[in-house]
Amino acid sequence: MHKEKAKERKGQGFSCKGKKLCYIISEMKNEKAEIQDRAVTFAAKNQDQLIEAIERRQTSLDNPGFCVECGEERDGCEPDVRQYPCESCGCSSSVYAPEELLFLI
Ligand SMILES: [Zn+2]
Repeated sequence: MHKEKAKERKGQGFSCKGKKLCYIISEMKNEKAEIQDRAVTFAAKNQDQLIEAIERRQTSLDNPGFCVECGEERDGCEPDVRQYPCESCGCSSSVYAPEELLFLI
């Protein structure tokens, strides 16, 4: 009982402090969730391309990543890259490393 009340108070404090900030954060979360969905779809459709890119990383100096919005390949991506900006379509968080994409499916 006591514990629950404390939780409630904590929650209220957060939303009172900055409703607008809360709103912005939740919007950002939505956007990230949407991109994550698109990443899953992209990965499912382009498995062969992703596997090829991972092999390329191991056998050459390439560091491939993929934009899940426009499909453009981007160089200079470490294997753990997630939600990097895409220079091609201007999306701020749509580039993923192929390893990360395969991990999603
Ligand atoms: Zn893009």
